[in-house]
Amino acid sequence: MRTVYLDHAATTPVHPDVVAAMAPYWSDSAGNASSMHEPGRIARHAVDDARDTIARALGATPSEVVFTSGGTEGINAAIKGAAIAAMARGRHVVTTAIEHHAVLHACGWLANLGFETTIVPVDRNGMVDPHDVRRAIRPDTVLVSVMFANNEVGTIQPIAEVAAFTRHAGVPLHVDAVQAAGTLPIDVHSMGIDLMTISAHKFQGPKGVGVLTIRNGTPWLPMQSGGAQESNRRAGTENVPGIVGLATALRLAVAHRDEANLHLSRLRDSAIERILSAVPHARLTGHPTQRLANNASFAFQGVEGESILLSLDMAGIAASSGSACTSGATEPSHVVAALGLPDDWVRGTLRLSFGAANDLGDVEAVATVLPSAVARLRALAPRRRDAGSAAPPITGAVEGNPATVKPAHG
Ligand code: PLP
Repeated sequence: MRTVYLDHAATTPVHPDVVAAMAPYWSDSAGNASSMHEPGRIARHAVDDARDTIARALGATPSEVVFTSGGTEGINAAIKGAAIAAMARGRHVVTTAIEHHAVLHACGWLANLGFETTIVPVDRNGMVDPHDVRRAIRPDTVLVSVMFANNEVGTIQPIAEVAAFTRHAGVPLHVDAVQAAGTLPIDVHSMGIDLMTISAHKFQGPKGVGVLTIRNGTPWLPMQSGGAQESNRRAGTENVPGIVGLATALRLAVAHRDEANLHLSRLRDSAIERILSAVPHARLTGHPTQRLANNASFAFQGVEGESILLSLDMAGIAASSGSACTSGATEPSHVVAALGLPDDWVRGTLRLSFGAANDLGDVEAVATVLPSAVARLRALAPRRRDAGSAAPPITGAVEGNPATVKPAHG
């Protein structure tokens, strides 16, 4: 049985052209990019070329591109490095309720140094109001971190508007663009982004390699000590095959972005329409229009997301109940909870994220299996279901003043 893979927000298969571009750097040209000899110079040349390609794709200068081991490292380096560099000026950071755990936990870790974090809420579509960010900024704020696009519900944030406020306040802005890179147009300079994180495995590049862009002049301290690689900003031998793979994948993704997004949004819209019409007590999560082209995410009342995933898995369909990093845990997703859905909806989440190799047959497969799977699971646990009611009004939507919290560590 062929697996229908609908979990591209978790990770993507590596593009064959990327595999080919990386191949020489595992063996024939496997020099250390810091070595003086010929193999070292070949590796250095490949890293420099990759840096130029990436800078062009992201609207940065090559000197602003720092290679990392992926999204989690880039985010930790950005948040801790910018906050600690400015801590003599203040110990307050601002972020949002729907960030990836890498962001929320990095901000939480800063509490060890006496930092406070203000968590700005989102509306019922998972959208941040830039004015809420503006209101959260205080005289002692040293960093704002807002994601470009959400990994669970796909909502795309108004980053340029947020950046206009952070610029005006003179506070650096970090953007987690892990789900946006390769899919949405990005220009860090014209958008006013000071620090930005991307990760290759989300756009058909290899796992374990990413980029942190640091705008020249941004106060920032490296958190990793060691050699002088990456102009003293990220110690450690460069992952040359990974860096070449990232640059190739990003170049391909940007070159084919429009046609890819058209294909993906057709699959997404078909899935949304078919599932909402076939499954009772179901709703779309995330913004109806400002959403990633490949993301169709849902909440189903009175059913556990994990049980839906297992049913789909048995039918050969790989999906997610939210972010891959939390799907092993029994707690409902903090992202879906932040949308203000009642508890018996928050637990029943499903994320379908499409990729280049998917087609309408894959939408057909999930739209065929899902309605009976949800009905069967609801029949097994009838007390969790309020069968007679339509989707309830959303209560407790988080609006108004952002809460100031000191999050728990790590
Ligand atoms: N940020 C977002 C929005 C993500 O979706 C992910 C991965 O799921 C990460 C950060 C972490 O990236 P990585 O897997 O490269 O560490």
